[in-house]
Parts: sequence; C-alpha cells; structure tokens
Amino acid sequence: MVVANSSSPSDSINNNCFPCSNDTMSLSNLSNNSIIDAQKGDPLAFGSYWKQMSDECTVVIKGWELMSYYSDSSNMCWFMLPELRDEIERLHHLVGNAVTKDKYIVVGNGSSQLFQAALFAVSPSDVSDHPINVVVTAPYYSEYKNAINVLHSRMFRWAGDAALYDENKPYIEVVTSPNNPDGTLRVPMVNSLAEGKLIHDLAYYWPQYTPINYEAGHDIMLFTFSKCTGHAGSRIGWAIVKDIAVAKKMATFVQSSTMGVSKESQTRAAKIIAVICDGYQNFKSNESELFFEYSKRLMRERWEKFRGAIEQSMVFNVTKYPRAHCNFTNEISETYPSFAWLKCEEGIENSHHCLRKLNICGREGERFGVDSKYVRISMLGIDDEFNEMVKRLSNAKKE
Ligand code: PMP
Repeated sequence: MVVANSSSPSDSINNNCFPCSNDTMSLSNLSNNSIIDAQKGDPLAFGSYWKQMSDECTVVIKGWELMSYYSDSSNMCWFMLPELRDEIERLHHLVGNAVTKDKYIVVGNGSSQLFQAALFAVSPSDVSDHPINVVVTAPYYSEYKNAINVLHSRMFRWAGDAALYDENKPYIEVVTSPNNPDGTLRVPMVNSLAEGKLIHDLAYYWPQYTPINYEAGHDIMLFTFSKCTGHAGSRIGWAIVKDIAVAKKMATFVQSSTMGVSKESQTRAAKIIAVICDGYQNFKSNESELFFEYSKRLMRERWEKFRGAIEQSMVFNVTKYPRAHCNFTNEISETYPSFAWLKCEEGIENSHHCLRKLNICGREGERFGVDSKYVRISMLGIDDEFNEMVKRLSNAKKE
C-alpha cells in the first residue's frame, strides 16, 4: 500500500492513503513500515466466509440473459428484480430488524444513491431560493455532507449538526443508527417547532454489529448490501418506504440518474441473501456456521483484541457500549461496530497524527463534524491488516 494525495471524497476511497487492491483475499505483505489504511470503510472482513460458500453463491449469467432495462413492469420500482425484492423481505423477516409488510421497497445503486433519492423525494417540490436544511447529529457519517454539496441543489442544503439546529424552518433530519462513526444508537435530535422529515439510515442494523432489539418501522429506512454481507462492490442498497408517493419519487430519482440498477448485481445479491436465509431455514447443528453467527463471532473476537490493545497503549480511549438483548440471537450481547471511534488521552491534541506515527491511517474527527481529538478506524479490513494494526496500537506510547 502506498501513500498518495488523492482527493476522492468517498468513504471507501480515502483521501490520504491510496487503497490497496481490494479484490485480493491474499495475504498482504505487511512490513513494519507499511501504512495500514484503516480510514476507508471497505467491508472485506467477511470475505473468508464467502470464500467457503463459493459454490453455493456462484451465479451464472448467460450472454443473452438480463438484457432488458425492465424487471417488473407491475411494480412502481420497475427496475427491481422480483426475486431480489422477495429475498430482501425474507431477510428482514428472518432477522426481525425492519417491518416490510405494507411498505414499498426501492432498490438503488448502493444506499448512497438512495440517500440522494430520499432527499429529493421529501424536499418541497416548489423550488424556492431557500433549499430545505438537512441536518445530522455529530459525529455524523462524513459522506452525507459530500453527497449533498456535490449536487449544489436548489431543493436541499447541508445545514450541519442536528443537535445545534435552532432555526424555525422546515428541515430533514438523517438518523443513522447504529451510527457511523461511533456505533451509538441514535434517535432524532432536532428540537424545533418547524416541520421535520426523517430519513433513517440503518446500514449497520444487523446482528453482527448490534443487538436487534426492535423491528424498525420508520417512514424511510435505508439499508445496504455493502454492510449487511460485505458485498460493497455489487453496489446494491434498498429503501423501505411507508408512503407510496415518496417511494415513487425515489424510484424516479434512480430512473433519472442511472435508469435503474444493474440486473447482474441484483441477481447476485438475491442469490447471496437466499443462501443466508436458506442456511437458517435448513439449519442442522453440525453444519457449517451460519452467516450472522460467523460475522458476529468475528466482530466480537476483533473487538476483544482491539480493546485489549487500546488499554495497553495509554494513548487512546474507545467508546463503551451497553449490553442489550438481541431478539435474533436470543442472547444478551454487546455492540461490535464496524468502526472504532478513538479519542486521544488528555494532553494529546490530534488522534490522526498519533496514528500516523504508527503508520496507521484513520479518518480525522473534523470530517465527522467534531474535533481533532477523535479519529475513526475501520474494524472490517482483512485479517492481516487488522492484526498488524492491533499489534501497533498495543505498542503506542505517549511521547
Ligand atoms: N450509510 C452509512 C451509514 C454508511 O456507512 C455507508 C457506507 N459506508 C453508506 C450509507 C453507503 O453504503 P453503500 O455502499 O450502499 O452506498
């Protein structure tokens, strides 16, 4: 891995560290001097599971298949394959994390596209000189601001931290729960008499990251294949929407920007989700581990190692999470977020610089709307990188 001055804003493609070839499941050649790129949110950690399940998950698409733009002309989301819709519903029913009954599903090119689609759908359509304010409680996912600002829209504008919003004007609040970057569970925070619309980003509301303690039934809920199974490269996200008019507008946005969503990707996502659900349906105790059992165990083991290293280091603190009952696993368990949100100890001003001395590249707190005492690092890198990162962190000393 090399350091480069790229200016890409995306969560997966970093600003200061050039990403390695992400398709590789091979061992990385890490030396003490190599830079560990932990600032991107590339979910590669579950790759070994999918490698084991290789045959079950293989999809063959013949040259003449999937040629039409259309998938289901009877659905307002005409570009969504019915088999993907069915598997998404089946998965939520299995996990119990979101209500799909009497709701509308819209598929998108990642939930990134659906985020913009949702803003488009809930913003007032009479475009005025005053775009509606979009707010998110800090620390917030760094890409929301970029996704809004890049459009220079006359419909909506970035207005920063929801907790500080004191304007008496309509607003849209994005609620990310569990939150990226800090893994906390979130509720709406705006305290205003003005009319507010909510978008719930539930990208991490899956059992490997957090106990599933309620079945979410919010008006607009965004989910992504990227964080559920780790298949970020397929670029599949979905929205579960209560109001058909909002769902139609969101589908119109996807139609106008990309004329639908790749059917190859939808087919693959449907297959992989079906493999997960079939596993639970046909489970016999001596069979190989089920996906959420595997991924939760991996996250727990990583977090235990990681906390051990942070305690030894005396340089950083890491957020503590309450334990809660998970309705899916039927056990009390902890939260194991896909990112660690670190704060440096008293007397240290810049966490990102501290990490860079260890040749670890994190993402600066400022990008999430807070100060430089904070830094975010990914917990979902490949094993080698994760283990090397933990080793370096445990040796970190205050200077
Ligand atoms: N929301 C949150 C909170 C995320 O962390 C991410 C990915 N980092 C996304 C949305 C975007 O996911 P996708 O890959 O589906 O565009």
